[in-house]
Amino acid sequence: MSITLDGINKYFGQFQALKDISLEIPDGELTGLLGPSGSGKTTLLRIIAGLETAEQGRILFHGKDVTSLHVRERRVGFVFQHYALFRHMTVAQNIAFGLEVLPRKERPGTADIRKQVGELLEMVQLSHLADRFPSQLSGGQKQRIALARALAMKPQILLLDEPFGALDAKVRKDLRRWLRALHDELHFTSVFVTHDQEEALELSDRVVVMSAGKIEQVDNPQALYAQPESRFVFDFLGHVN
Ligand code: ADP
Repeated sequence: MSITLDGINKYFGQFQALKDISLEIPDGELTGLLGPSGSGKTTLLRIIAGLETAEQGRILFHGKDVTSLHVRERRVGFVFQHYALFRHMTVAQNIAFGLEVLPRKERPGTADIRKQVGELLEMVQLSHLADRFPSQLSGGQKQRIALARALAMKPQILLLDEPFGALDAKVRKDLRRWLRALHDELHFTSVFVTHDQEEALELSDRVVVMSAGKIEQVDNPQALYAQPESRFVFDFLGHVN
């Protein structure tokens, strides 16, 4: 499902966090939003999800205007930076929550929820941890559970905010590979936020470089490596971070 952003402007009080953002994200693409802290990446992701509204501009999914749709009606999967799992719920209950928030007409019955939770746990290869609580899991495991919860509603669009930010290097690398495989298998359109150049270049089909609320550059990783002017952007990012 393609995503179209058309002239997005976003203010927090007097401060303009996003300045006339227009972008076309093709169906099935894995897009990295790369930029220094404060450049507007998270705000843009939240606007795509419907967690935040823009003062100006339109958002279209597969050509359909979703600008005024509520987050639930947009049906996107969202993975937060710090997992955002419910501490008092088991792993299975956390994933079931993703199904329980579906609109009433589509919500599965109890037996079906159990079956689908089982399938999702298998997908993220954590069936053996169904009855644990989040505090008993490693960072990488928690993030896989957060992903399973996001996938519960079978979204066609998956949005991830610094999904691997809190993890150590080895786990990051494994999870990146795993996310890439999952994306390709399930044919999502995915957008992830990162301030890590290496992560953006390794994982993305296309990288959108942001700076101070604007899009500086949109290119595939090979082109970004090759172009001298893009190296300038990266030097700048490296300097800021
Ligand atoms: P990034 O994800 O690139 O680090 P953000 O989208 O989080 O950037 O933030 C962009 C700018 O908007 C920052 O200057 C930030 O302080 C500001 N901002 C973000 N959310 C809010 C908010 N709820 N209220 C006021 N300012 C905000």
